[in-house]
Amino acid sequence: MAIRIEGKLLAAQVKERVAAGVKELKEKGIEPCLAVIMVGENPASQVYVKGKVKDCAECGIKSLEIHLPAETTQNELLQKLAELAGDAGVHGLLVQLPLPAHIDEKTVIEAIPPQKDVDGFTAVNVGRMMIGEECFLPCTPAGCMEMIRSTGVSISGKNAVVIGRSNIVGKPAAMLLLRENATVTICHSRTENLKQVCANADILVAAVGRAGFVTGDMIKPGAVVIDVGINRNAQGKLCGDVDYDAAAEKAGYITPVPGGVGLMTRAMLMQNTLQAAQKQALAK
Ligand code: NDP
Repeated sequence: MAIRIEGKLLAAQVKERVAAGVKELKEKGIEPCLAVIMVGENPASQVYVKGKVKDCAECGIKSLEIHLPAETTQNELLQKLAELAGDAGVHGLLVQLPLPAHIDEKTVIEAIPPQKDVDGFTAVNVGRMMIGEECFLPCTPAGCMEMIRSTGVSISGKNAVVIGRSNIVGKPAAMLLLRENATVTICHSRTENLKQVCANADILVAAVGRAGFVTGDMIKPGAVVIDVGINRNAQGKLCGDVDYDAAAEKAGYITPVPGGVGLMTRAMLMQNTLQAAQKQALAK
């Protein structure tokens, strides 16, 4: 039976370290601050933003929640971003996605200065990650890596399979595994023999967005299984991409949903915000 990788415990440890770092900065007169902009009334986004504000409070980070109406134009949003980008009291800046259809996400993301891009979504941070330079790592893949490392299983030389190739999860997760010398395969909707590919994975990261996509027969005995998916099953219950019970019988380590990657994603955002404040303090 697999050992459960407890997101709650790991996230609490990260947040404790962040809180200590925040305290140190405050003693030097710097109050780390994260600004979160949300446009419209997307219910899931509202939950995520609430979570970020709560995490900030727990870590001692100041949060600014800017809620703009759904009719906000792209220019109005860009103006607000420019204002926050130029505010020395704001260290981290993010726009909650998705945005309403009339706003171009890429344009908006690129309006965030890389040094405040605590989501790690701007082309500059993505490029730096690719070439192994210091940058803000995207929170979900960074959280996955922390969870894999927590097992003590060595990543170097292992077969790692990532299912999903989105810019925010799949691709950066693959890149971070490669950086730690895994032999990485990225699977997607056109992949042939996906089951066989997965069954050869020492480390399997599922970021598909389909409940029960990863079945027990896709798990190599002893594998580390990281379930990024957030779905609702037929009963309306929150679940991941992995059939947890079947996978847990074969895996060595497995993350639950809820209580897994989602919590680590939130904790990594706090870590990035602290780092942003530390770096900006040093740059002064
Ligand atoms: P996307 O929809 O952007 O990407 C899904 C990926 O899965 C695509 O690359 C797609 O392939 C692939 N895929 C879809 N169907 C299949 C299939 N039948 N076989 C193989 N591959 C398939 O999703 P995200 O990456 O944004 O998110 C993935 C999941 O992770 C979602 O459930 C999301 O809610 C969750 N998530 C969780 C977070 C957390 O904090 N825990 C944070 C972010 C996301 P193709 O490219 O070919 O279409």
